[in-house]
Amino acid sequence: MRGTKKDYYEILGVPRDATKEQIDAAFAKLAMRWHPDRVPPEQKEEAERRFKEISEAYSILSDPEKRRLYDMGVDPEGGIPHAGAYDFMGMGLDEIFERIFGGGFGDIFGDIFGGGARTRTRVESEEDLDVHVEVPMSLSEILTGAEKRVRYRRRAPCPTCGGEGVLNPRTCHVCGGRGRVREHRRSFFGTFVVERPCPNCRGAGVEGERCGTCGGKGFVVEEVDRSFHIPAGVLDGQKVIYRGMGHRGRRGVGRLVIHIREMSDPKYERMGRNIVYTMDITPPRAVLGGEVAFRGPTGERLKVRVPEGVQEGEIFAKVEGKGIPDPKGGRPGDLLVRAHIKVPTKLSRLERDLYRQLLELEEKRLP
Ligand SMILES: [Zn+2]
Ligand SMILES: [Zn+2]
Repeated sequence: MRGTKKDYYEILGVPRDATKEQIDAAFAKLAMRWHPDRVPPEQKEEAERRFKEISEAYSILSDPEKRRLYDMGVDPEGGIPHAGAYDFMGMGLDEIFERIFGGGFGDIFGDIFGGGARTRTRVESEEDLDVHVEVPMSLSEILTGAEKRVRYRRRAPCPTCGGEGVLNPRTCHVCGGRGRVREHRRSFFGTFVVERPCPNCRGAGVEGERCGTCGGKGFVVEEVDRSFHIPAGVLDGQKVIYRGMGHRGRRGVGRLVIHIREMSDPKYERMGRNIVYTMDITPPRAVLGGEVAFRGPTGERLKVRVPEGVQEGEIFAKVEGKGIPDPKGGRPGDLLVRAHIKVPTKLSRLERDLYRQLLELEEKRLP
């Protein structure tokens, strides 16, 4: 892989000394061109590939720390291809622009980049329908995938007023029923129009007598308590997204975004998709080496060969393919074994005698 390393600057079409603003703008332009939702069906496959590539490049070059590592020739994602790209996969263009530029840009990209690229209006992005939850996962769960019980609260339209917040509704006199008001704002791109929810009807487009069930909010809160499948190989900080499980709003249903939090384990550390297992090794085994059986992180029986004279901290064996699987179907990581020489503290009489003999031999050798 190392020799064929991709050139992220070339992918985004920016010079090596590009500023953050140049990188943002280049990514925005390419995302407009290659977002999989925006291409005709026959370009879909290419768009997905290109989009993943530009997302990956942007996730590295837009992060000062990762960019510095990348410039030094270090892989900032620890051998996981497209690790950063996951951040943008499954995001709509509007969400992406919101991430890059912060809120407030509404329809502006349609004008800059030409061509009817209307992003979602501000009203809907302000009414964020996604529910975010954090789910802890042990290493063995990450290895095999898991069913995780998740409990959360989400909004649903009020059954009494149907989400209007008012009874006997009539058209709002401020926004004329649009639910939105327009406002002119200036930015470095020039003047543009932002839409905001109408302050009088709070975006509902209607006014009237306040609903008693929801107190005029238009929604009620419901509890969800169910299991969700987390596929194998989803790592710390990555997300599993369930569409249609978020808040139920008037304009649609949001997503449940499950953020994976990996629980630490004293016996294992992770290097990208590789797992490093620390094996306790007794002094005689460290001296003489030999085959040792042990249980892997999922309880599976594995065997490795300890080399003669293995040293403390040395990674001495590799069990191929027993690391973390790739949910995208790529090659799984390996299980690496590191030696920890464990000095016994309780000895039988025979053991003590044998150690004493060893020590006497050692003392005779002293000058
Ligand atoms: Zn109501
Ligand atoms: Zn209104």
